[in-house]
Amino acid sequence: MTVVESQATPVLTVGATLGEGPVWDEREQELLFVDIVGERVHRFRPATGEHSWFGTDGPTGAVVLTENGGLLLALHDRFVYSGRSGENQVVVEGFQADGAVVRFNDGKVDPWGRFLVGTMDREKARPNGTLYMLSADHSVVSLVEKVSISNGLAWTADRTTLYYIDTPTRRVDAFDVDPDIGTLSARRPVVEIRDGSPDGMTIDDEGCLWVAIWDGGRVDRYAPSGQILEVLRVPEGGHVSSATFGGPGMSTLFVTTARAGLSEDELAHAPHAGDLFAYEAPVTGPTGNRFPGSPTS
Ligand code: ZN
Repeated sequence: MTVVESQATPVLTVGATLGEGPVWDEREQELLFVDIVGERVHRFRPATGEHSWFGTDGPTGAVVLTENGGLLLALHDRFVYSGRSGENQVVVEGFQADGAVVRFNDGKVDPWGRFLVGTMDREKARPNGTLYMLSADHSVVSLVEKVSISNGLAWTADRTTLYYIDTPTRRVDAFDVDPDIGTLSARRPVVEIRDGSPDGMTIDDEGCLWVAIWDGGRVDRYAPSGQILEVLRVPEGGHVSSATFGGPGMSTLFVTTARAGLSEDELAHAPHAGDLFAYEAPVTGPTGNRFPGSPTS
């Protein structure tokens, strides 16, 4: 079978140190993403080109949308509610990761409204990370332990399966999901990445995975069988960190990139490193899920 070759184009110049975690807000027709190391949350309206950002007090690994229209941040080692421009921040009491050892990284809301977010070792080498699950009642459960760099998360449309990336494994693994309590079982590899390190990912409406390859300058599309179907190049974009579907028809794949880890010479050859890219995909993707909790829940 022929592998489709395609190319993304830059749509927003931000030069993020570590652009990550794009989230499409279908109500506002707005894309949010974080610059983890740059300690910022970005907002972008593709229809008008409007762009704004707010700074965070430390690295924000992930931002997700809440039911009531606000944001929930995984800020360094804690959960923080925030307004859309960073106002009215409220820390979720009762949970704190060991911020001296790890920091929050990639996260998403699952189909039942629980916030799954992982941590990664600050030295990037040791298996000190954990995949956590925050529920609307603010209880926190550890789902996967001994993770090195917790990254991409995606659920099948029938909600039975979670796809998950711990970057140094160079794999996408699948888990069975218990819908009631969220626990994971039957871990098995579904994709082995031959050339590069997988970072963030998303799923399309055909059940295929779009996996950002950090050191590959590309996003790979894989069938659930593990077969590669398409290679989306992200030219001059530096490190490629994550992707999500959005836009008015949910067929635009937005891709985040990063300048982190590139030498001066590599940066000279990657003038769009850290910028936001987009690609009109041949498929659509699902709208994301929202967190039903609030500071008073
Ligand atoms: Zn990532």
